[in-house]
Amino acid sequence: MKGDAVSSAQHARLIRMPGGESPDAQQRVMSWSAYDLQVRATAHSATSGQPGFVPDAHLDHLDDLGIQATITADELCTVGLWERAGGGYRILHRDLARQREHEDLPALAREREHQARAWAQMARPIVVTPPCGACGTPAARIELVAPGQLPAQWEQWPSTVQAAIARERQPGQWHLLVAGLAAGNGYGEPIDTARAGQIAWAFQPPLRFAQVHEAGVHGDAGFCPDCDAPYCYQHWHVSETGHGSCPHGHARAWTGTGRR
Ligand SMILES: [Zn+2]
Ligand SMILES: [Zn+2]
Repeated sequence: MKGDAVSSAQHARLIRMPGGESPDAQQRVMSWSAYDLQVRATAHSATSGQPGFVPDAHLDHLDDLGIQATITADELCTVGLWERAGGGYRILHRDLARQREHEDLPALAREREHQARAWAQMARPIVVTPPCGACGTPAARIELVAPGQLPAQWEQWPSTVQAAIARERQPGQWHLLVAGLAAGNGYGEPIDTARAGQIAWAFQPPLRFAQVHEAGVHGDAGFCPDCDAPYCYQHWHVSETGHGSCPHGHARAWTGTGRR
């Protein structure tokens, strides 16, 4: 994909909330998936008897539908629209969704379908190991395995793991492996073709934080948003509490990114 196409694709995935709608009168930028989840969760909480509260169980339910809600919830916390609260999330600014929930849902559904088709076409096997901006050692490792293929390190895995994966993998499913600073996903997880394409797109070189972040992969491959560069565990200076700072002093929490 050429630069222009990438930037317009990027643009289409982000929405900007005008300053007037925003609680702190600053323009907020969030992905369509974040906006979509905000709308869904606000509507759900209004009918569940707990207005403004999104239980983890509801996000797990959405995850099961392939909506990536848990990852998106982290994004909503990052932009200050949600916060973690006992067994779920509190929606801090429900008004943001309320005024547009009815008119926008069909459009968002169409947008999602359109995007899933576009992403599916970009699915391809990749192994990406972004080098640390300070020392060059891999900051993370992301591998996408095509349907019917085996991960690169398959032969080194315990036979019980191999058997479990072979048993659970559905025809046509891709396999995603993530390792890095934040908790990875172990021996990986099955994903659909659209998700594989989304990740392949996000990890196309040259790697940029904004693009990598769109993939919603735990830990963003070790990227510092402010430096727009990845760093290894050592150069994030991760403390016992899971807080780190990059070589340029930018802080980032490395625990709690993704509850799974
Ligand atoms: Zn390093
Ligand atoms: Zn930094």
